Amino acid sequence: MVERFYVETLGCPKNAVDSDKVVASLLADGLEPADRAEDADLVVVNTCAFIDAARQESIEVTLALSETRKQGARLVVTGCMAERYGDELAAALPEADAVVGFADEGALVDVVLRGRKPTGVRDLLELPRPATQAPWAYVKVAEGCDRACAFCAIPSFRGAQRSRTIESIEAEVAGLVDGGVVEIVLVAQDLAWYGRDIGEPGSLAPLLRRLDRLSDRGLTRIRLLYLYPSEVKDPLVSTMLELPTVVPYFDLSLQHASAPLLRRMKRWGSGDRFLEMIDGIRAAEPDAVFRSSFIVGFPGETEDDHDQLLRFLDTARLDWAGFFPFSPEDGTAAVHLDGVVASAVAEERLRECGEVQEPITRAARDSLIGARLDVIVDSVDGSTLVGRSHREAPEIDGVIQVPGANGRPGARIAVDVTDAIGPDLIGVPVLAGVPAA
Ligand code: SF4
Repeated sequence: MVERFYVETLGCPKNAVDSDKVVASLLADGLEPADRAEDADLVVVNTCAFIDAARQESIEVTLALSETRKQGARLVVTGCMAERYGDELAAALPEADAVVGFADEGALVDVVLRGRKPTGVRDLLELPRPATQAPWAYVKVAEGCDRACAFCAIPSFRGAQRSRTIESIEAEVAGLVDGGVVEIVLVAQDLAWYGRDIGEPGSLAPLLRRLDRLSDRGLTRIRLLYLYPSEVKDPLVSTMLELPTVVPYFDLSLQHASAPLLRRMKRWGSGDRFLEMIDGIRAAEPDAVFRSSFIVGFPGETEDDHDQLLRFLDTARLDWAGFFPFSPEDGTAAVHLDGVVASAVAEERLRECGEVQEPITRAARDSLIGARLDVIVDSVDGSTLVGRSHREAPEIDGVIQVPGANGRPGARIAVDVTDAIGPDLIGVPVLAGVPAA
């Protein structure tokens, strides 16, 4: 009987790419996917170790899947937690048949499949992808990170940056496009740094040019996630704005707006420099969309730092923003910093950030009522099409719902927006030949 597998993915889009590749390997090895963990002979949990809450969730999900798995099914834990806390995790989770980190990338499949030690190393980054249901896909162009942000443990367990070659990325994207994907989302820990480690700094722009050519084969959109702000400059910005497939969506990894606090975080920039960058891009492309995320309550964050962040949010008017409370991570410089911010203060600041940002995001969405948008359909929910324009990244931002319309995933349709509900837009499909309102 053919064995069936189920992969549960926690954490960020980069983890989703790893899961896709694990799935591809399992399929290549003759296993079949199960829709539910209860039906699988092999359950793989791809964990996240980003912050305490993510680790807790990873453990809870693993335990829940362990309870519901069918008798005799193997349970394998991988991902960032397995990477960082391999031995401890194995001791804490006797339910798991194996705990395998990404350092053993090639080992994963062998251990998973055969319950034995690896025989050879296959590089997860280079494994082919399975055909996907969604018309979009993440593509990881590099692994690891060369920076040393004080709050971040990623470099300590994912290592220095390892970029893939342009050829290997192009081949993966071509395969996805041939399989029906029309939007690709490029990810890396520090995307704009792509290529430095292979002696080709600034090679994200040439990579985009190469991928843009795949529009001939059906690629419609290229989206970039995680841009470290010091690298958001020409020729990257002009290339992004010039290439028809690359959407003007700027996911800037800002983290704060106070320069002294950014220095404590061991990061580049200041609120003024960020505003200058955003204004410059908006002047060149009024339709540009901005997302960022911020850490609140980093050690040493003063009331003045916090006020600077609030003023920055008010001026920058980012379309989308996420706020995260600081969480001390083992192995990072931040755990040794003084000036710990009491959790009640951090909570209060978090709330204030949300209060400033929420009406800005709402106004940005409301301002689209009456606009005509170029939408790619992601899914069909009964008689409602659910899709996105260039303004919404998959799984992160809002969506556009088009009730009572016909279409299939991957279709590109013009939609007139009639309403906004929170982050989501509602619209009607435009019939051919009808001019915009
Ligand atoms: S750039 Fe990102 S991944 Fe790299 S150390 Fe800083 S926060 Fe971590």
